[in-house]
Amino acid sequence: MSNYNPNHSKLGADGPATCFNCGKRAMVLKVGECRMLDGCIVPDVEYLECLACGEKLFDGPNTDKVVSYRKSLRKRSPKPKTLTYA
Ligand SMILES: [Zn+2]
Repeated sequence: MSNYNPNHSKLGADGPATCFNCGKRAMVLKVGECRMLDGCIVPDVEYLECLACGEKLFDGPNTDKVVSYRKSLRKRSPKPKTLTYA
C-alpha cells in the first residue's frame, strides 16, 4: 500500500517534515487552495502545512505563485474590502 506520487518529489516526499515554527514533525503536503493568514485564498498551490500549529511553508516556485496571485488581486481590486467570515 503506497500513495507515493513521484510528481511530488520535493515537498513532503519523506512523510511529515519537521515544522520550523513549533518543532513537531507534523508538516504535511497540501495541494490546492491555500487560505492565507489574512483570509486571502490562493488557488492551485503546493505547500506544507503543520497539523500542530498551522504554519505554512512554500517552496520557491509556489512562493512565486502566491506573490503573483496576490499582485493580480491587488490589480483587480485596488481597494481591498474587509471580508467577514461567520
Ligand atoms: Zn508547527
